[in-house]
This record gives sequence, C-alpha cells and structure tokens, in this order.
Amino acid sequence: MTIQAQIEVLEALAAVDAELKELNDALTQERDGLRSKQTQLSSLDERFERSRKSVEDMERMRNDLLGELRQMGTQVERSREKLSRCRTEREANAAQRELEELRKLYRDREQESEKIESLISQAREEANQLSSEREKLSADLGASQGDVVGRLEVSERDVAEKVTVRDALVAKVTPVLYRRYELLRKRKGSAIAHTSAGTCSACHMQLQPMLFQKLLRADEFGQCPSCNRILYFRPPVPGETENPENA
Ligand SMILES: [Zn+2]
Repeated sequence: MTIQAQIEVLEALAAVDAELKELNDALTQERDGLRSKQTQLSSLDERFERSRKSVEDMERMRNDLLGELRQMGTQVERSREKLSRCRTEREANAAQRELEELRKLYRDREQESEKIESLISQAREEANQLSSEREKLSADLGASQGDVVGRLEVSERDVAEKVTVRDALVAKVTPVLYRRYELLRKRKGSAIAHTSAGTCSACHMQLQPMLFQKLLRADEFGQCPSCNRILYFRPPVPGETENPENA
C-alpha cells in the first residue's frame, strides 16, 4: 500500500475514533446521570426506612411510658387514700413522704413522655419530607428512565456500527503502524498529525527543514519530535493561509 493510501486509511480511522470518543463520552454521561439518580433514590429509600423505624421505636417507648404512667396514677391514688386513713402523725408523715415520692416519679415520667412525643413529631416530619422527596425523584426517574434507556440503545447501536467500520479500517493498516497509532491515541487522544507548511498540525511545533523534506518525499511516515504523533505531509489547500495551524 502506498503511503498516500495509508494516510487516507489513518485519516479515516482518526475520524472514526474521534466520533467514537464523542459517542462514548455521551454514553458515559448518560449512564452516570441515570446511575446517580438511582443511587440517590435508594439512599432516600434507606433514610426513609430508618426514619420510619425510629418513629415506630419511639412510639413503642411512649406507649410503654403511658402504661407506666397509668399504673403510677393508680399508685398515687392509692397512696392518697392511705394518707386519708392515717390515724397517727407518724403514719401520716410516712404516707405523705410516700405520696410526694410517687408524685415526683409520676412527673418525671410525664416529662419523659412529653420529650418523646416531641421527638416523635420531629421524626414524623422528617419521614414525611423524605417520603415526598422520594416520590418526586421516583416520578422524575420514572418519566426520564425510558427516554434515557432509549437514547442509550441508539447510542450503543451507533457505537457498534462505528466499531465495525473501524475494524475494517484497522484491517487495512499494517500491524506495526496500528500499534504505533493505538499507543499514541491512548496516550494523547489523537495519534496523527500533518504538516502543510512546516509546522505540526497537532502541537504547532516548527519542524526541522530536513524532516519536512523527508515528509515531502512521502516514502515513509515521520514522527513529530515534539508530540511524537505520526506525521505526514498534506498538500496545502489552495485559498487557505500559508500556515493555517498558527493563524
Ligand atoms: Zn507535534
């Protein structure tokens, strides 16, 4: 294959690779967007579940406390009756102390249950907020997921088609040249560069006259001494400036 024919293949390959990169970048972005929403949703699920569980736990605690309070109320009542039945001052003092003690315990429990009640309403509010956030995100995801999946499918098909075109092009390049191409493409994003008037189209390095002369003869590919890309001569397009790369 002549150098000219190989140049054409490499240029076609570079064009396909640029398109593939764009397609794959778009695919990655689309997939990441979808995944990030899904992750957000499952994190909201978890937080909602935790919040709901904590409301339940606290409600159970509060119910236990209310049970205790009822019992203590009965005890207070009994103690009060006992006080009213006292005959001696000593008995009355002892009964009075017991009643005070019980009343204090009752008030403590009552305060505890009020505290829990306010924690419960806070937790409920949080759970409701999480639930509405979750619903919103879930609806958003439900509405967009189908579109995104559809777009992903189309893009994936485009990629597959381009890969087929690419494979056909790769088959036309010698393995040595292809390895060199791939190495550069992976390292730099693009592997080839041309020169029309003595500078590298990729890195704009001014080339040595001897190298430029060698490229003009076009019997082999060159290498840019600055960016290492595969370098070849491309006749300047009439009408374009002498040195478009530096314009
Ligand atoms: Zn260069």
